[in-house]
Amino acid sequence: KAKSKGRGTFCFFEATMDANRQERRKLELDLQQALETNQFEIYYQPQVDAASEEVVGFEALLRWHHPERGLVSPAEFIPLAEETGLIVPIGEWVLRQACKDAAGWPADIGVAVNLSPLQFRSQTLAHTVVSALSDSELPASRLELEITESVLLTDNETTLATLHHIRGLGVRIAMDDFGTGYSSLSYLRLFPFDKIKIDQSFIRELGSSKDCAAIVKAVVDLGVSLGITTTAEGVETKDQLNRVREQGCREIQGYLFGKPLPLSSVHDLIRGRLPSAA
Ligand code: C2E
Ligand code: MG
Ligand code: MG
Ligand code: MG
Repeated sequence: KAKSKGRGTFCFFEATMDANRQERRKLELDLQQALETNQFEIYYQPQVDAASEEVVGFEALLRWHHPERGLVSPAEFIPLAEETGLIVPIGEWVLRQACKDAAGWPADIGVAVNLSPLQFRSQTLAHTVVSALSDSELPASRLELEITESVLLTDNETTLATLHHIRGLGVRIAMDDFGTGYSSLSYLRLFPFDKIKIDQSFIRELGSSKDCAAIVKAVVDLGVSLGITTTAEGVETKDQLNRVREQGCREIQGYLFGKPLPLSSVHDLIRGRLPSAA
């Protein structure tokens, strides 16, 4: 009895593996078509000044409207886009579109765009940034690029040269998901980042873990000494807001101040912050 059950389980497992592989292949093909058929949309999440609670910028977060599956999460398709190399044209589209969108916002509001390590390997990244800025007429000072430490893991010299080139244009460089990698601290020595984004996993446990509070405090202090702004990611509650404020975070991003929004809602939000003309 146990044996037949075991065999049945094995076959079921194999069938599942096969189905997964087929599904993945299908998703890959769909992803190839997504750019050409305009299935991507950028959502924007507000970034808020911790003291004044004013919106200082928005992070561009990619969304995929899949014709059958509906909205697919970037957590699902970005890894696939990286494995297939499609992240290079997709990332370029995001950068160009985000610059164009942001050029229509007030001059004191910036935009942050995520970059994949693969975009650094294509050698044309700096040129793409220059061209996205000039085509959109967005001043370089209003663009921020977010990288994770995985960008700095490989091919250091070329990557660093590219980063310096881009930063030399006046674009800010932020380290995203700080604290989740293996050696976040050593990367701070490698490159003069303008901003550290403290990963949301630390913020989530602020109320329950004294250690998390101590780590956030230490990162903020480190930022102050190095002249780097710190942002708290994933702030969802008033309590978390008060705590990251106490610890000296300069900027806040999280559901408490707003989820990622479609462009039209960004315009409503921006209009809402201005005194009514009528
Ligand atoms: P990320 O760059 O760290 O972006 C922050 C993620 O946290 C976003 O998820 C955002 O919606 C989510 N988030 C923000 N505030 C809160 C909060 O208060 N609570 C919770 N639970 N979550 C919050 P999203 O949009 O699903 O994006 C996931 C990741 O996908 C991003 O993480 C980024 O690594 C990647 N990604 C998104 N768009 C792009 C893109 O255009 N290019 C590249 N290379 N990666 C992208
Ligand atoms: Mg990010
Ligand atoms: Mg992050
Ligand atoms: Mg992340």
